[in-house]
Amino acid sequence: MSGLVGHTMYAVLARKAAERRWPSLGRVMREHLASYVAGAYLGSDIQTMPEAVCVDTGREVGYGTVPMEKSPLTGGAVRPFMLHTPGGDMRPGEVHDRFYGRAHLVFGWSVREKSLMVPWDHLPDYFAAVCDDLKREPQNRDRALAYVMGWIVHVVSDSLIKGIHPGVDLNLIDGRYTPRNRPVQDLVTYHEIGIKEFSIDWPAIFRDLAATPVEPVQVHYMRCAQPSGELAKLFADGWKPEAEPTLRAVLAENRRWVREHAKDVLSDMKLDAGECSEKLRTLAGMNYAGMVRAAEAARFRAALTQIQEAVLNMFEAVHQRSGIW
Ligand SMILES: [Zn+2]
Repeated sequence: MSGLVGHTMYAVLARKAAERRWPSLGRVMREHLASYVAGAYLGSDIQTMPEAVCVDTGREVGYGTVPMEKSPLTGGAVRPFMLHTPGGDMRPGEVHDRFYGRAHLVFGWSVREKSLMVPWDHLPDYFAAVCDDLKREPQNRDRALAYVMGWIVHVVSDSLIKGIHPGVDLNLIDGRYTPRNRPVQDLVTYHEIGIKEFSIDWPAIFRDLAATPVEPVQVHYMRCAQPSGELAKLFADGWKPEAEPTLRAVLAENRRWVREHAKDVLSDMKLDAGECSEKLRTLAGMNYAGMVRAAEAARFRAALTQIQEAVLNMFEAVHQRSGIW
């Protein structure tokens, strides 16, 4: 479980609301849908890389920072995965430590960089500055804007579902976002909401996401570039241009691995005669029918609407500050 399904769904919901409110922004999101969805995932989750290597087969496995004790392919031993970067070899945990907070802004900073945390009420200024800085790059501006809007969806929705910022009332089985209810959220989102309500073609959306290019604006908004533009004027601290080559290697790795990771997610989401895998039944402590009932009882769909509204409010606050759309 990594959040690929959830973050894609938050992006779909935010787009539906945004295109009603701002048709011009809706057009940008529609025309660059894959980059928008990529922003909603890889715009923040820079730990998207293998966690380990299966010793028997030599194949990479898992998802960065999620502990893996034995190979999911053979049940045999694994060794730690190392990412080769211009800054040296790195474990996913070290990549997380260096870059995760820079992409999530309001949480996830290492102790060392905690002072760089952006308070929630400064987010609209931060996002608007990033949007304004896109005006400097007329080439691929719409595609970059779509990516940035996706990233904004991630920062807001991740904060809400993880309870960093209030706004989601959800008590599903044992809480808002827990190891036990995450498979339930994913499966119900994938099948009941994604396929039944929105007719989402999940394999296609994941395939298109994985084929998008790295957006140069990401090194700017993560402040791993020469300080410049409105963002550097408003947020003068924390710029780390020397980290840019390393971050670029990380972003390229994210594109490579999300393709494999999506296969793992699609396989986890499979239902066989209406029943999910034993692995997910064990994690949740119930069968698929029980999960659907639990989600209904907890009004899970309404929690997604709360996230959708919070994202729309953030878009509105950015729109008031930036004339980019
Ligand atoms: Zn995240």
